[in-house]
Amino acid sequence: MYVYADNAATTAMSQTAIDAMLPYFNKIYGNPSSLHSVGQEAKEALDAARASVAKCLGCEPREITFTSGGSEADNQAIRSAAIFGARKGKKHIISTAFEHHAVLHTLQRLEKEGYEVTYLDVKEGHNITAQQVRDAIRPDTCLVTVMYANNEIGSVLPIAEIGAVCKQAGVLFHTDAVQAVGHLHINVKEQNIDMLSLSGHKFHGPKGVGALYARRGIPLTNLIDGGAQERGKRAGTENIAGVSGMAAAMVDACDHIDQNMPRVAAMRDRLIEGLSQIPHSALNGDAVNRLPGNVSFCFEGIEGEALLLLLDMHGVCASSGSACTSGSLDPSHVLLAIGRVHDVAHGSLRLSLCEYNTDEEVDHILKVVPEVVAYLRNMSPVWRDLQTGKREYIL
Ligand SMILES: *Cc1c(COP(=O)(O)O)cnc(C)c1O
Repeated sequence: MYVYADNAATTAMSQTAIDAMLPYFNKIYGNPSSLHSVGQEAKEALDAARASVAKCLGCEPREITFTSGGSEADNQAIRSAAIFGARKGKKHIISTAFEHHAVLHTLQRLEKEGYEVTYLDVKEGHNITAQQVRDAIRPDTCLVTVMYANNEIGSVLPIAEIGAVCKQAGVLFHTDAVQAVGHLHINVKEQNIDMLSLSGHKFHGPKGVGALYARRGIPLTNLIDGGAQERGKRAGTENIAGVSGMAAAMVDACDHIDQNMPRVAAMRDRLIEGLSQIPHSALNGDAVNRLPGNVSFCFEGIEGEALLLLLDMHGVCASSGSACTSGSLDPSHVLLAIGRVHDVAHGSLRLSLCEYNTDEEVDHILKVVPEVVAYLRNMSPVWRDLQTGKREYIL
């Protein structure tokens, strides 16, 4: 059996999305800026995709800028708000300690450029409260940027409440909603979201395409200068196949949230229930306000990397929170941010499900993970020290 349980990293494209893309490779291949009919057909596809994406978010088509993905949308949103704020002498930004690197690294760069960033603590409940945001807002705050849902531990943040706080204080509010779009109900107007980032490949669309929603009137700063595409805010010939595939996947996902969410959440809950039986383990993330597909655990006395390799050999594709893929052995900043100590953070496992997963696959995971954890603990000198009392258990 082969189980793909790494949907927070990326998803398989749906047939709907693939079918939506195909005509734009060699049939309707025009440049939307061309005045002739082939170009205008491509322009129509671009407009249709923008209208679909806008409808799913509850905004106007003109408030959508297509980008190369979630990372670019995050960069553009944050940079735009920072530059806009600086013009009015406001150079303070509020974020959280467990953002995606696309946000964190952009903020770190802004700090070097003279901005000040407050990173809200996420230890309590592995989440933040709207009150924390309210308390952190200052007269010189130009932006609140907090993620909609965390990609590693699945916590879903109180976005509507934070939106209300920001609106009341007159501070721009951006959310990295890459993990939420297509999986949770979102309405940017009702939730008072000023800017929102999304990415096609996290909801069965193509990789390399995303979008930034920015409320009318927010002056976006270009990251890429050139032609007048995307209302002059993002130069370069549009990725018509990509945006068409993303829009089709998004409509499909948004239309089926009410069917998919309970089914995926039921598989998630069965995994959480089963894996909690493993001794000296802990669930990461908000136990209540949680992405329907996210299961994240720390197991004491093992190395997450070894766990992943063995799980792969047993047909389970998962992920750890650790940044080992980038060649560093530092544990994940997210797990450290929620208060896991280094040793514990190293023994992490993230399983992320989607509606393509099945109950049989959940059974397989529930059989394999406890066996592999026990096997690794048997070989671990750390585990021996814990068992003989030379070391104290943390979990
Ligand atoms: C995947 C992801 C991103 C990056 O999106 P790309 O399209 O891969 O650039 C940003 N934020 C979060 C929360 C993500 O999960």
